[in-house]
Amino acid sequence: MANKSVVALYPGTFDPVTYGHLDIAERCVRVFDRLIMAIAVNSDKQPLFDVEERLGMLREVTGELPGVEVDSFEGLTVEYARRKGAQVIVRGLRAVSDFEEELKMASANRKLADEVNTVLMLPSEKYFYLNSSLVKEIARLGGPVDCFVPAVVNARLREKLAARAY
Ligand code: ADP
Repeated sequence: MANKSVVALYPGTFDPVTYGHLDIAERCVRVFDRLIMAIAVNSDKQPLFDVEERLGMLREVTGELPGVEVDSFEGLTVEYARRKGAQVIVRGLRAVSDFEEELKMASANRKLADEVNTVLMLPSEKYFYLNSSLVKEIARLGGPVDCFVPAVVNARLREKLAARAY
């Protein structure tokens, strides 16, 4: 059998990266040869952190994971996947509520690029209800988020929210 290296693309907003995203990334490095975690730059969204800040946090928290590259892109995810030679798009599937949206996106992406397959990965159950919006909301209200995000992200959140308070 040919020894083919499988490259996976994990796209997202990562505003900011959480333990849920990292759980998926850790599972991916055990399955795929290379993983590209890429920030999809979307002008419709109003992120808390700019792209450079999000890239910096992603790099810091994935530093120990073998075979992970961090990047950002604009435009169609499948076009970026093709440019990077990724055969797989990975998405995290949490509660049932994610399913319909992911199915819609996966089926659109398949129409655009049939050779790129979407793989939906389940995180550890403790992250089923975790998302970046929840983390930002709790942090904004002064609650602790250390069980949801790595220390470096926690610190950046505090800095960002303190700067916004003035
Ligand atoms: P958000 O975290 O606000 O849902 P992202 O665009 O950053 O948005 O998510 C990128 C990908 O990571 C999506 O596939 C999303 O389902 C997945 N993801 C986000 N949080 C988790 C989590 N807690 N567990 C598993 N996958 C997750």
